[in-house]
Amino acid sequence: MIRNLPNLEYPLGALESGYRRQHLRQDIRQCILVGTIWLLPNFLFLYIDYLLYGNQPVFFALAGYRLFLTASTIATGLLLSRARTPEIYDRMVFIGITVILGCVFMTNHNQASLQIHTMGLDFLIILSIYLMVPVRLANKIIPCVGFSLFNIFDHVLAAMPLAAPILTMMVLSFIMANLLGIWASSHFYSYRRQQYEAQVRAYELRKDLIQNALVDQLTGVSNRRHFFQLAEAEFERYKRYKRPFALLMIDLDHFKYVNDQFGHPVGDKILRDLADTINRCRRDTDTFGRLGGEEFALLLPETTLSGATDIAVRLRRACHGMVLPDSNSRRITISIGVTQIRSDDPNFDAVLARADATLYRAKNNGRDRVEVA
Ligand code: GH3
Ligand code: MG
Ligand code: MG
Repeated sequence: MIRNLPNLEYPLGALESGYRRQHLRQDIRQCILVGTIWLLPNFLFLYIDYLLYGNQPVFFALAGYRLFLTASTIATGLLLSRARTPEIYDRMVFIGITVILGCVFMTNHNQASLQIHTMGLDFLIILSIYLMVPVRLANKIIPCVGFSLFNIFDHVLAAMPLAAPILTMMVLSFIMANLLGIWASSHFYSYRRQQYEAQVRAYELRKDLIQNALVDQLTGVSNRRHFFQLAEAEFERYKRYKRPFALLMIDLDHFKYVNDQFGHPVGDKILRDLADTINRCRRDTDTFGRLGGEEFALLLPETTLSGATDIAVRLRRACHGMVLPDSNSRRITISIGVTQIRSDDPNFDAVLARADATLYRAKNNGRDRVEVA
């Protein structure tokens, strides 16, 4: 029944469950605080009941309801502090509010002669539930409207009903308390939901921006700029700690022919396949990037020239698994230039230039091969 009621709050769609989970702890704390604040005057009211009724049976009835109210508020707080999911939280809050308002109604019922004076408190309770208990509106509307109706009918059916103008005023006041509460609550919590949505959108936008700034869109590997950032950091590490690293420059052979013969979409797919193949062969600690066109670079930290050469040979062989989509299933091949950082390299560009020159040697020596410098 609660679920079928319209959601008067700002709709969050797919973000709803994330929003609820993010605010769960904060919502629980707020509910416990509201309950605690209301418990304090409850004890004062018990004392006032004693002053009014002394040792009459009505005092003991009221004391019973007030103690039950205290116990159910504490129990609700304790159970809420253990709620782990928004669904459980919603149900507990609904039951908690219903039981607590039930107790308040019973205390009202037992001191009907005073009810006109305690009405102000009833409105305050209704408003504080709408405004301060962060739960789906339907979970508040049902107990609050129910509480209002019970109080009104209690007076209509009382042995000594209130005068018609006073009763009208009472009905109007309950209607106002509920309408204002619903209106304020839906606005108040809609702001919070909008704020969450804006936060998530800003986060996603930032993630997209970073992604676009660092990642090559076609292959999903680091773009030239990001690769250089990481490579220069590695060069600084070498300068300070003398940790070696090797660099592989990788270039597809006769790629222009592939594009001309089979079209750009096929060329793009080969680029993606090559990136996937290298990604499968490399270690997580290696830095892999597309420097441009069909040229890739792989930086291997803590690796010497001979280790890097082994990896290059493995990569070249792995690429033989890729074939052209023609009747001959011709192989796609790559050439690789391998080098290692040297003590006289003034910067990373010098390492890159050597790897590049080595790659061109591999091209000149017939392609589909690994050259080392
Ligand atoms: P070589 O064996 O000497 O490397 O010959 P090549 O044809 O591979 O060399 P070249 O550098 O002349 O050609 C590179 C080609 O790569 C030219 C360009 O059309 C193609 N290319 C560059 N970027 C992309 C891309 O993003 N997608 C596709 N499909 N092709 C690209
Ligand atoms: Mg090429
Ligand atoms: Mg090239």
